[in-house]
Amino acid sequence: MNIYGMTRAGLCKYFEEIGENPAKAAIILDGIYKKGMTDFSGFGFAERNIRRLSEDFDFALPEVVEKRENETAAKLLLRLSDGEFAETVLMRQRFGNVVCVSTQVGCNMGCAFCRSGLLKRRRDLTTAEILGQVLLVSREFSEEISGVSVMGIGEPFDNFNAVKDFCELVTDDCGFAVGRRRVTVSTCGIAPKIREYAELPRPCSLAISLHAPDDDLRSRLMPINKRYSIKEVLDAAEYFTKKTVHRVTLEYVMLRDVNDSAEHAERLAKLIAGRDFYVNLIPYNSTDTEFRKSPPERVEEFCAVLKANGAVATKRREFGAELDAACGQLRADYLKKST
Ligand code: SF4
Repeated sequence: MNIYGMTRAGLCKYFEEIGENPAKAAIILDGIYKKGMTDFSGFGFAERNIRRLSEDFDFALPEVVEKRENETAAKLLLRLSDGEFAETVLMRQRFGNVVCVSTQVGCNMGCAFCRSGLLKRRRDLTTAEILGQVLLVSREFSEEISGVSVMGIGEPFDNFNAVKDFCELVTDDCGFAVGRRRVTVSTCGIAPKIREYAELPRPCSLAISLHAPDDDLRSRLMPINKRYSIKEVLDAAEYFTKKTVHRVTLEYVMLRDVNDSAEHAERLAKLIAGRDFYVNLIPYNSTDTEFRKSPPERVEEFCAVLKANGAVATKRREFGAELDAACGQLRADYLKKST
């Protein structure tokens, strides 16, 4: 088993099963994530424990094959043990460093504006592979991580259990100790899974990729909308807010002449009126699709119309356009170079 996939609860169970004190779980997590240990010899355990742990667990991490960095962002391309690739991005924000992690190799959701969706889902990432992205970013760039966005390649709720365990690990006091409100799981809108997530004992934050104020447009941009309408998704998001008292973020990527008019903004404000949602306007960042990014003045106007109609909205800063940071781009470039 990979030690980076083990939550505190999982390790406690393991120690109980081998007749050892489950309190050792916290010592292991603290040693790995706070002290950077990469074998079991420095934990002060008895020799027989060290042998048993070394037989049962490995410390394997993905291999870093490409690394790009500038002032506002950094990006890693990782080769997984079976030769597949995963991408992860570090965003240097004013209030701390946020790592954006991938949860699948490829994605089946088929969003029209998304480069990652061009590669169909080949497999889910394991908890260790998702956690490994945070670990490698912090090691490679010697950075403290204060937030995590589960918004890279893949639909997190299509890989629910691995993402749930990842959230436990990255927020564990003995692990990265990132605050639950600073870890955001972003879904394209799988309504039943949003409700299941709300039922977890201590869920992290939630973001919904909305991207359109009506079902017609959203179904054209995001095929998942044909399965779960905007109403079903927003009702599930409201249920999450009521259960957890966390405000839900609605992500809205600004696509030129597609979803970015003042009228779209008015419709969006009307759609969410009276609900505790927060709209985050995201600059579009890809050159390989038919879509283009909205000009800054259009984004300003859209934001102003939302606010004038009572919505809470912000514009996200642009990260990493010059690093080719759109999801899937680094992998595609790497493969082009190496063939
Ligand atoms: S936007 Fe997210 S859910 Fe949609 S295709 Fe891309 S990776 Fe998948």
